[in-house]
Amino acid sequence: MSQIQNEPSFRDSVEIMFNRAVELMDLKPGLVEKIRVCNATYTVRFGVRLRGDIHTFTGYRSVHSEHMEPVKGGIRYSLGVNQNEVEALAALMTFKCALVEAPFGGSKGGLCIDPKEYTEAELELITRRFAYELIKRDMINPAQNVPAPDMGTGEREMAWIADQYKRMNTTDINSAACVTGKPINIGGIQGRTEATGRGVQYALRAFFRDVQGVKKAGMSGTLDGKRVIVQGLGNVGYHAAKFLSEEDGAPVIGVIEYNGAIWNEDGIDIEDLKQYITEHGSPEGFAGGEFIAHGETLLERECDILIPAALEGVINLGNADRIKAPLIIEAANGPTTAGADEILRNKGTVIIPDMYANAGGVTVSYFEWVKNLSHIRFGRMQRRQEENRHQLIVDELERISRDTSINWTLSPNFKEQYLRGAGELELVRSGLDDTMRAAYESMAKVWHERDDVTDLRTAAYLVAIGKVAASYHAKGL
Ligand code: GLU
Repeated sequence: MSQIQNEPSFRDSVEIMFNRAVELMDLKPGLVEKIRVCNATYTVRFGVRLRGDIHTFTGYRSVHSEHMEPVKGGIRYSLGVNQNEVEALAALMTFKCALVEAPFGGSKGGLCIDPKEYTEAELELITRRFAYELIKRDMINPAQNVPAPDMGTGEREMAWIADQYKRMNTTDINSAACVTGKPINIGGIQGRTEATGRGVQYALRAFFRDVQGVKKAGMSGTLDGKRVIVQGLGNVGYHAAKFLSEEDGAPVIGVIEYNGAIWNEDGIDIEDLKQYITEHGSPEGFAGGEFIAHGETLLERECDILIPAALEGVINLGNADRIKAPLIIEAANGPTTAGADEILRNKGTVIIPDMYANAGGVTVSYFEWVKNLSHIRFGRMQRRQEENRHQLIVDELERISRDTSINWTLSPNFKEQYLRGAGELELVRSGLDDTMRAAYESMAKVWHERDDVTDLRTAAYLVAIGKVAASYHAKGL
């Protein structure tokens, strides 16, 4: 959250960016308003008996747009959760899903809680009670509203939610599809946990294939050797930093956590640092780099790629003019305020926007949801007889392409991997790669071909709003 006084709220920031894009579109004002507004936000206050007393919690589930159903979006556990935040996040989900063609409307939920203050057993009680309240009102349902992990939640919470739904809907054969991001053994999909970080990696690869885009950032060459600073070593930041440094030759020279940062010009070993933080609760004392107490100052250091992967509003009017990275990729939702976005745009900084950059999570959630509904394991054909293999692969690809509207054969090495016996994980990565490539191309086309579009965020909004509008038109609105 921004500390700057005349900074708009998160939801207002999203609206300012939305408005900027619709001004360049030829849409009827009534339709623009329909797309802009958040349809509904449900607030629930519930009590849970803990440690001999009743504790009251406040939670939200916001539905931004139901132009497609189910609506989709994570559930966040954090003390910063409030109505404004979930509504902004729900709006971003609408545009994110549209951009990557995951056939969902946008939603988001949150519980105002610091999960670190509770034991696992207490968190289970709280989560089940929150889920009960949402399930009762069809705010968790495989056909209507499908949550997923977000900040402060993970597969453990999703498992409790799925189980709670199943208990309350014992005859629903599709109950597993009521939530995504579940553990593998209860209907999850391989590659979901890493998906958002993996998507950031694929997004950067897509960007560096776009020579014109790279030039616009004043950069050259490939990802190899680009120096990275990442803020947040949670699920998204950790996976993105790990994959970029271990697989793409892009050293992570700075890692910013909420309680301090690590700096090392030679590159930080992400696996070691993650382990150190897990053991010690803070990066302080880590031997693989210099500890910096005021971590957020690292956002302003020189690097090639800055990856905010934590909170919203961290790049704001207070620091935007000092940000030196020529390229920012928004792994978090809403890390750049509208005011900062303008400053950076005028400076020529290229921002790969959140709605595209972190869409890997919901993309793989979509695969998980399809897998749950089809009751078939992805990649099941690999066990069949060798002589039938080729035809079976072709049939399988056609089936999955049909189910997901994604051309799975487009990804490089896909058939080769499949022939080698690649399973679900390779299918998921291949589908994610294909999705990230296609979405990048749709944004980049607008960015490069329209003179009135000077940044990727506006291009992303134009593509996404265009798709939402098309679906309202198709419905006769
Ligand atoms: N919470 C993630 C996001 O913000 C994932 C949502 C989902 O998978 O539905 O995109």
